[in-house]
Amino acid sequence: MTGEADDRRQASTRGAEPRFEQLRAEVLRANQALPAVGLVTLTWGNASQIDRAAGVIAIKPSGVAYETMKAEDIVVLGVDGRALDVGTRPSTDTPTHLVVYGAFADVGGIVHTHSPWATAWAQAEREIPLLGTTHADLSPHPIPLTRALTEQEVDEDYEKATGMAIVEAVVGLGPRELPCVLVRQHGPFCWGRNAQEALEHAVTLEAIARLAALTYGLEPRAPLLDPALRRKHFERKHGPRAYYGQR
Ligand SMILES: [Zn+2]
Repeated sequence: MTGEADDRRQASTRGAEPRFEQLRAEVLRANQALPAVGLVTLTWGNASQIDRAAGVIAIKPSGVAYETMKAEDIVVLGVDGRALDVGTRPSTDTPTHLVVYGAFADVGGIVHTHSPWATAWAQAEREIPLLGTTHADLSPHPIPLTRALTEQEVDEDYEKATGMAIVEAVVGLGPRELPCVLVRQHGPFCWGRNAQEALEHAVTLEAIARLAALTYGLEPRAPLLDPALRRKHFERKHGPRAYYGQR
């Protein structure tokens, strides 16, 4: 690289630094929250956030312990998947995140975990039925299960194919009404306007997965939630005339 090109590159990196610093800090916070709220064991999970104006995503580095992770370890990539920094490798699930960001313009943050109750439903290959208002506060629909991947998809471009299966499961109702999905025999992916909201959705999903399993344990024929209650609970929190919480 010529000295001039090097100078230009450094100048542009310097110019972009403040925005990426904040993005990195937010993504670090969401990743470190994963073990803190009990959703993640070892390094089995990841959080990312997109800055659509800058055309970049920030994501957890691959295989780095959450306790020692620092903001500079968070990997920033272009939305085409090309790394902007050299050094730390991004999460192996990065192509999955990129496909979901590419498909849904209003997704700003994504969290993936192997949290036990949600993962149990994924391994049982069952969607999570809508049994109560706790679930309806998150989504007015069952939490869907992705289709099985073909052998070819698993062999050739596994993480990208996983992203495409997620998009297929969500595209009909959209990511606002379906803020989480269960990847078959794998675990949940959740999203929101940013990594923090995606994290909150992942926490809520784990709670409703547990409640649904306990409910079916007590009463295998427990009824689905009344349709009027489904809409009421979802819309009062997320609808255009939402009135839950402080605004
Ligand atoms: Zn996983």
